[in-house]
Amino acid sequence: MSGNVVGWLKDLLFPKFCVSCKQESDWLCETCLQAILNLKDYSSIDNQAVSNLDKITALFDYGENTVSKLIQMFKYNYLIELEDVFRKMIFASRLDFIIKDFVVMPVPLHPRRERERGFNQSEILANLFAEKLGLEINKDLHRAVYTKQQAKLSGVARRDNLKDVFVFRQIDKIVPEKVLLIDDVYTTGATMEECAKALKSVGVKVVWGLVMARG
Ligand SMILES: [Zn+2]
Repeated sequence: MSGNVVGWLKDLLFPKFCVSCKQESDWLCETCLQAILNLKDYSSIDNQAVSNLDKITALFDYGENTVSKLIQMFKYNYLIELEDVFRKMIFASRLDFIIKDFVVMPVPLHPRRERERGFNQSEILANLFAEKLGLEINKDLHRAVYTKQQAKLSGVARRDNLKDVFVFRQIDKIVPEKVLLIDDVYTTGATMEECAKALKSVGVKVVWGLVMARG
């Protein structure tokens, strides 16, 4: 069977409904995509005074319902098909504030969690951002300890849960000078801060964060 027939059958048997207006279409219809693109705020998030993360920017506000639904479906319902929707959101973004000599790095998942989930949502987003920005991707940052899911913990517990779990293991590339860390959501900032700390400890000079949404 050709791919088109498979796609047609799939649509017939498993119709998709726009998460926002509920019409039968894609996971996000064109009208609702345009509507959320108009809501992009590119806000720089106020960071704590002493931080290893030099700057953090979000494309959207997580308080925006459509955006948070898409992120949750992507991450917890394991809907890899949503990659196309995120591609549209990222490619329609104005990201000219990113300086060209950065490398893009996803916030890593522990290999066990990645096996359970089947993919790392941050890595998928990082690949899209790297493609959009024409930057190289570097995946030498690893999560060495299997931890509880951050979303299930409170603020202080989030920090403790992540202590020393990230390590930079240089495989074949040199330690980059400037890193653009990618994650889906920025909530308390504990995850990105720990990643930035691990990167600075091996000699990375500048760490910026870029996320789909701020919590
Ligand atoms: Zn819609």
